[in-house]
Amino acid sequence: MAAEDRAQALGGLVPEDLRHEAGGDQGGVAAAAAVGEARFIVAVDLLPELDREALRSLLVAGGSAAGSPRVNRVLDGRLQRRVVEAACVAAGLAPNPRCRELDRGARHALVEGLKGLRVPVDGTLGFDRAEVTRGGLSLRAVDPRSLEVNGFPGLYVFGELLDVDGPIGGLNFQAAFATAELAARHATEAP
Ligand SMILES: Cc1cc2nc3c(=O)[nH]c(=O)nc-3n(C[C@H](O)[C@H](O)[C@H](O)COP(=O)(O)OP(=O)(O)OC[C@H]3O[C@@H](n4cnc5c(N)ncnc54)[C@H](O)[C@@H]3O)c2cc1C
Repeated sequence: MAAEDRAQALGGLVPEDLRHEAGGDQGGVAAAAAVGEARFIVAVDLLPELDREALRSLLVAGGSAAGSPRVNRVLDGRLQRRVVEAACVAAGLAPNPRCRELDRGARHALVEGLKGLRVPVDGTLGFDRAEVTRGGLSLRAVDPRSLEVNGFPGLYVFGELLDVDGPIGGLNFQAAFATAELAARHATEAP
């Protein structure tokens, strides 16, 4: 499968954190390297709780299990079905095949696909899809006890207007709420 098709098959399946932390070392990210068209290839371990041998054994057992289970069934809810399908396709297999259809080579490719899914990262989703703005007024420019701007009494800056940001997951909300409350309390109490 061409790299472009593979990237498309994976579209939307890259965990949020990885989109933001591509190249970093978070969760299941095993490695990142600069390559051709994509800025990075991020290798994701989708099943960090299973080593390769344990995963291989599950797939082998699934091959002779009653009901001829598909890959997502033997993974027993560890991964969403569409993630399993994308990993199978990225490994050069049909989406979510039956375990008994996997020969040794296909099983090996799938184990590698699930333990080291290669996700090309070739850019961001653009400003329209951005969730947090970087930059803003330097923290050194405000009084940390009130968020009043130094040298401008009565002017308060908080939330994203400050040069504060974090990974998504609530930190930016928390920063916005906490700094807004601090500024509001001070502004209403100020003489
Ligand atoms: C799609 C999306 C998903 C996000 N998900 C998360 C998440 O999961 N976790 C997390 O921590 N953060 C998340 N964020 C980031 C978080 O929403 C922001 O960091 C936070 O809301 C910033 O708060 P704020 O008050 O500084 O700015 P804002 O929430 O942007 O508020 C600014 C307000 O000012 C108003 N305004 C602008 N100009 C004027 C004007 N001239 N006059 C009057 N009003 C004006 C705007 O309409 C807006 O209501 C997400 C952001 C987006 C866009």
